[in-house]
Amino acid sequence: MSNRSLLVLPGDGIGPEAMGQVSRVIDWFGDRQSVSFDVQEDLVGGAAIDAHGIPLHDDTMARAQEVDAVLLGAVGGPKWDDLDFSIKPERGLLRLRKEMELFANLRPAMCFDALADASSLKRELVAGLDIMIVRELTGGTYFGEPRGITDLPNGERRGVNTQVYDTHEIIRVARAAFELAQKRGGRLCSVEKANVMESGVLWREEVTKLASEYPDVELSHMYADNCAMQLVREPKQFDVIVTDNLFGDLLSDCAAMLTGSLGMLPSASLGAEDENKKRKAMYEPVHGSAPDIAGQGKANPIACILSYAMALRYSYDMPDAADAVEKAVEDVLSEGYRTGDIMQPGMKLVGTTEMGDTIIAKLKQAA
Ligand code: NAD
Repeated sequence: MSNRSLLVLPGDGIGPEAMGQVSRVIDWFGDRQSVSFDVQEDLVGGAAIDAHGIPLHDDTMARAQEVDAVLLGAVGGPKWDDLDFSIKPERGLLRLRKEMELFANLRPAMCFDALADASSLKRELVAGLDIMIVRELTGGTYFGEPRGITDLPNGERRGVNTQVYDTHEIIRVARAAFELAQKRGGRLCSVEKANVMESGVLWREEVTKLASEYPDVELSHMYADNCAMQLVREPKQFDVIVTDNLFGDLLSDCAAMLTGSLGMLPSASLGAEDENKKRKAMYEPVHGSAPDIAGQGKANPIACILSYAMALRYSYDMPDAADAVEKAVEDVLSEGYRTGDIMQPGMKLVGTTEMGDTIIAKLKQAA
């Protein structure tokens, strides 16, 4: 019996197609290396609404709390667009994030050499890029109180949101980022606006205090506006960036687009460590359910496959297996295989299943 449990939630649109290729990669690891995963599959989003009338069943939520990791495809689509906000497909995703208390969102921006020409920046600036943005996900401006729109006596209206962080929220996400930096290049850049925001001053002070516990990590600080400029000027200067919810939202999208296509981008959301040093975790591609190409066999499965590679690295402590998956993707791209979203002149156009075939063939070759 394997002690590696995984809950797969394919979701809607291209989710099931892309996740089908991940299942093949999981099976390949199981067959070859006898590192089987105890995989359960369940419904989320529109698929759960169709089956149960709600976007996430309580039983599914309970299973998500028990497993080592959740792997989610994508949710949503036109079929469910007119439903009330409280039962829209996205609510299933938000419930998972909230109840699993996933406070650290990891968004890697990796640029495979073969795709460097698809970036909006010059090839030499992005080829080989490998940075990780850690965004605080459950606090800050998007959740802070007071918030709302009020009518003023003078007839004007006022919109208010509050940037608020307590020390424990800063410390737990900063710890996750320090630990990541230890596993990567050993450099962490903490980003805020301490020059104009008190919450930024507190953020900088708390992160600085932690640095003595991680002597092998080189800590630096940067203002968020400068960080945005540096990301497009010289992105390879960064290893791990840690920042709050609002700045992280903007900076991670900016960094992601340095790398080419939505179909290539994985992510992870991590919760607190338990007494066995295990974190609750959910892995998912950055892209949505792509209804425009769903069911046509055109979806790029790489973002889902790389999300699984992140699970291998961060939930199952299998860095060699994660490296092997990432290398297989890199080799397939170098040999010119492309799904439609990353197609370039002179390359070989393949569909979802063929992309899975070629990645598995590369894994076999390297084994
Ligand atoms: P989207 O990411 O689904 O698609 C944007 C564009 O990118 C489309 O043209 C699509 O064909 C293309 N694309 C995305 N992923 C691709 C892939 N793997 N391979 C090839 N092409 C790909 O964003 P959208 O169109 O704004 O949203 C569609 C639906 O997805 C909506 O219902 C939205 O609410 C939902 N959505 C879900 C998530 C999520 O589940 N995390 C995230 C974003 C959007």
